[in-house]
Amino acid sequence: MDRDDLKRQVQEATDIIQLIGEQVTLRPKGKEFAGLCPFHEDRNPSMFVSPQKQIYKCFVCGAGGDVFSFAMNYHKLSFPEALKVLGERAGIEVHDSHQQGEPGQPTVRQKLSEANKCACTFFQRQYQHEQAGAKVRDYVAKRGINTQMLEEFQIGYAPDSWDGLATYLQKRNMPIEDYIEAGLVSPRKTGGGLFDRMRHRLIFPICDALGRPIAFGGRILPDGTIDDKNEAKYLNSPETPLFNKSATLYGLHLAKQTILQTRTAVIVEGYTDVVACHQHGVRNVVATLGTALTKEHAHALRHFAEKVVLIFDADDAGQKAADRAVEVFIGGTLDVTIAVLPNRMDPDELLALPDGRQQWDGAIKDSRDALDYQFDRMKDQFTDNDTVAGRQRLTEEYLRKLAVQGLEKMSPIRRGLVYERLAHLVHLDEKTIGQMVSRLAQSNRPAPPKPKPQPTPQHPGGPEYLDVMDGDPALMDPDMPHPSDLAGSTSGQDATMQPSQAASGMIPKVRSRALSLAERQLLGCLLHRPELFSITLGNGHAFEEAIIPGDMTSDSANALYHVVYERITAGDKLRLSSLLMELMETGRQDLANLLTQADADIEKLGLTEAEQLEAVFRQAAAKLLETRQMDEKQETRNMALSTDSAELQENLLRQLQEHHRANPSPVRIAGISRGKS
Ligand SMILES: [Zn+2]
Repeated sequence: MDRDDLKRQVQEATDIIQLIGEQVTLRPKGKEFAGLCPFHEDRNPSMFVSPQKQIYKCFVCGAGGDVFSFAMNYHKLSFPEALKVLGERAGIEVHDSHQQGEPGQPTVRQKLSEANKCACTFFQRQYQHEQAGAKVRDYVAKRGINTQMLEEFQIGYAPDSWDGLATYLQKRNMPIEDYIEAGLVSPRKTGGGLFDRMRHRLIFPICDALGRPIAFGGRILPDGTIDDKNEAKYLNSPETPLFNKSATLYGLHLAKQTILQTRTAVIVEGYTDVVACHQHGVRNVVATLGTALTKEHAHALRHFAEKVVLIFDADDAGQKAADRAVEVFIGGTLDVTIAVLPNRMDPDELLALPDGRQQWDGAIKDSRDALDYQFDRMKDQFTDNDTVAGRQRLTEEYLRKLAVQGLEKMSPIRRGLVYERLAHLVHLDEKTIGQMVSRLAQSNRPAPPKPKPQPTPQHPGGPEYLDVMDGDPALMDPDMPHPSDLAGSTSGQDATMQPSQAASGMIPKVRSRALSLAERQLLGCLLHRPELFSITLGNGHAFEEAIIPGDMTSDSANALYHVVYERITAGDKLRLSSLLMELMETGRQDLANLLTQADADIEKLGLTEAEQLEAVFRQAAAKLLETRQMDEKQETRNMALSTDSAELQENLLRQLQEHHRANPSPVRIAGISRGKS
């Protein structure tokens, strides 16, 4: 069976409603289904999925396509990976020979993924090893973790040795650099060679939503073999392009089905708590990786859950986490509640009781709104500061905090609830509270932005670079401004941004429906010479990998490029007439018009030489890549500004600095078939 047949077979065996329904709640709407779009900050269902056509489409951000594009975009997979994942899901065997459309260089993410997969197998084998694994199996037996959980969570063991994994890798000639980057081994300071980072630890692989290991958590075995005063009890893999600690939830791949069914995610403190809950049949449980609940976690959960319940044991940690939870509650669409288990028991202890499950369900049911929890703490402070001035100061302080956290931007219903509670608490009417909040929000707002510099002939785009580039003469100018020139002009402006404003910047812009000149020229060039699709760009990346559907700056451009892209990758000839026909048949007269315009733009240039066309194409591609880099930088900068985790901030800023050295985008598609199978 060749790859096209296989693709068709997998496509036919995969129901798009079911596939997307596993990630997003879909509700019937006429002949179609609608849900919150996972590709932008969606608050109203903007994504439509058609069971007849087996396609999805977001009318706000323009994301759309078939089952493969959904898997690729949602799970950040290359096409061969998506084929494999969907094939496995449908029970269709996908051989590696099918996957190698063309060998192509694996991406950083693919290399890290492979390293983690291989290490995971190593740790699991060590666990089973008759001698090496004896102690850890004793420990696990004492903790009462059963075989089913060991398998589901792929639990393993890092042996009590400095070079167990290192030797294993060296013997097999594995690409050591990938394992160093994944934080699994380190070069020795003296004498060369490598040593293992995880030693004598019970290993909990941390997986992505598809269950593939992306990092590891290691718990030291408490048997005195290793001096545990000098060693951390838990050791986690470092952050990598594959692993963002503050966006990852442990156990999500095993919990998401139940979370989707119950619309509730329960967050506990550690790996063993998650495993214990699942073992007791409580399946909607995940853990953060030693951090409080973040907006990124909420983002990862928002398509599965409506409500997040945080289980706290210790009071101090609980209060701090409650503050963060309020922030997440205000900033998002999730309800965040806080539960304390009876007698401050561990989930494991509680669930082991004869009526443990009942007590657990009761605690979840009685969990309290994060705001209530925070208000109660404030009430306690009031009793301590029970003077009029003290109350006044605390009220203002609290309101200011809520205003900065973005209270004003909450949905009116949620905001109403907050005002109501506050009013009750501070004995003021709701209207007064509302006015106080608005006033405080005003005083927290940054100074109005400086007037925009007038465009000059040298920099016609100026800071408006990201918007529609219609008629931008810079495109044809080989000396067009370098993105770093522009980066300087925007960073000054950012420095004055307030957190709330930065957060709002994270919502992707809904762009104009018009196509930029660069986009029109790109499409036009491809219509004239489809083989340009395979060229290598100046940055060393293949065009087809560097610019994929979704990279354009408007939804119309994305939709059009998607059609063209699919035709080319399927090996079809690009004929304007048949493309126009297809667009008209699918009711996209608007896109047909834009395509005609793109074609005319190139005609108009009257280029006679193939090289000239290629030069236009290259410049247009460079312009798009620059735009995307600017977008990514802006997004990273906004994230850095809107977080108050110093660690995350540092990390993001480092990413920003490394931006020029990095790939044009972290995830590119490798080895797309061009109908050569
Ligand atoms: Zn969308």
